[in-house]
Amino acid sequence: MSLDMWNEDGSYRGLGAEFDPDWFLTDAQKELRAKIIDLSRTTLRANAIESDKGFVFPRKNFEALAELGLLALNVPKSMGGLGENHIATAMAVETIARYGCPSTAMCFVMHCSAVAALMLRHHGNPAIDKLVGRLSKECLVGTLSLSDPATGSHVWFLMSSGAERDGDGFVISKKASWTTSGGFADWYVAQTTSPDFEGNYADFSTWLVMADEVTANPGSWDGMGLRGNQSGPIEIDKVRVAAERLVGPVGDGATSNDEATDPFFLFGTASCWNGIALSMIDLARKHTTRKTHVDVGLRVCDYATIQDYVGEALIRTNASRMMTYGVCQEMDRLTGNCDWSIHADVENNPRATLVPWSWSAKYLASSNVTEVSDKMLHACGGTAYKAGLGMERLLRDAKAGWVMAPTNEVVRNFLGRAGLLGFEALDLWNQEVNQRALDNEIKKMTPAQKAALAERLLAS
Ligand SMILES: Cc1cc2nc3c(=O)[nH]c(=O)nc-3n(C[C@H](O)[C@H](O)[C@H](O)COP(=O)(O)OP(=O)(O)OC[C@H]3O[C@@H](n4cnc5c(N)ncnc54)[C@H](O)[C@@H]3O)c2cc1C
Repeated sequence: MSLDMWNEDGSYRGLGAEFDPDWFLTDAQKELRAKIIDLSRTTLRANAIESDKGFVFPRKNFEALAELGLLALNVPKSMGGLGENHIATAMAVETIARYGCPSTAMCFVMHCSAVAALMLRHHGNPAIDKLVGRLSKECLVGTLSLSDPATGSHVWFLMSSGAERDGDGFVISKKASWTTSGGFADWYVAQTTSPDFEGNYADFSTWLVMADEVTANPGSWDGMGLRGNQSGPIEIDKVRVAAERLVGPVGDGATSNDEATDPFFLFGTASCWNGIALSMIDLARKHTTRKTHVDVGLRVCDYATIQDYVGEALIRTNASRMMTYGVCQEMDRLTGNCDWSIHADVENNPRATLVPWSWSAKYLASSNVTEVSDKMLHACGGTAYKAGLGMERLLRDAKAGWVMAPTNEVVRNFLGRAGLLGFEALDLWNQEVNQRALDNEIKKMTPAQKAALAERLLAS
């Protein structure tokens, strides 16, 4: 069965444009969206099926995106980019996921997050300037590598990594358990504990690492969905790098995360989940308006039950889009439309103030897509359970949102804890003693147990 969502005249079989919050977009951004939709029709959508079937990294889709200049979407025009803002990035990701290919959208999010980390600290760094000027022209795909095999979804806690000073350069090592585009990217933004590390895991640094400095096992990815995103393990094994490959000051990792990688990753992935939810509703419209039950003469879309499913999916998905675009709008306002020159002062980090909003956008979008993809599958019946309609693939893709770090359990916990106790109570790097818990446990001990504990503490 064909997956084609377009009519002969080029019109779309999914939802009408009246359901798009277009007031967020400039005319230039609407034009860019039209180009991405067209690229989806001619190229991205067919490759999505190939990527899913064969776990194929979407390099062909990246080549197509590069032709539109999208690999340098947030790079200033003066440096060879499109000079676009946060809203444009959200729109591009959502459009790629909705009309084209969710795996490509996810790899694109990681690329944009890595570019953001570089742009944040490009001031006075020739290695970064040289690379960002070539991104679209040479289709140089980047990605982020954070996760550590020792700490699971606590991706900010980098135990299996290190860096040492070596003359005028550094030697860096890292093991990462998951890296989107791992083994397929041309360059990586990777984080390790800082040179001169003294046991405080909040002290970490950011590096630019090239493909030939990374060991990967490309093709080992076997996820249930987002099969093109190839999020396999990588290793950087005692690689010597020049000083200019340090992105920002030593110890800048947490600031870089709060100001660049996290904001772009969080609103970017939210946009990917919003795009998948919309694609599910589009497919439900296409299918239920065409399938007829001859016995009663009604189409599936004529049943009130199905209208109710779609109504709720629409309201909730657009609430999530409002949240995502709203967060991006505020980032645009705070940064003069993603003007990286404001970061020549390394203390100027306005996006970091929006962390709870970005977390909320990620949570809302990934929860919503879980619900919507289920309900749209129900609305289309057994036909949707089979691969031909395309919903089965999107449903598997959608499942990644919930478990990607920060996982939805962690986000809820962070926001609940911060709301009740303040952000300092998050204790991300496990440094604060929970005196109440400690006192409570000690209270339960017998005198002999207390003496044994005291002896153990004195010996340590
Ligand atoms: C498609 C895909 C692509 C990915 N790409 C990348 C990537 O490019 N880079 C990257 O760094 N990572 C990536 N990841 C990894 C992802 O970000 C998570 O790190 C990973 O999914 C966590 O899996 P885990 O088995 O280690 O979970 P665990 O950490 O073992 O979690 C298991 C359960 O415990 C819960 N949990 C964990 N900690 C807490 C806590 N403190 N409080 C309450 N509950 C908790 C979790 O929510 C979950 O329910 C990707 C994952 C997927 C699915």
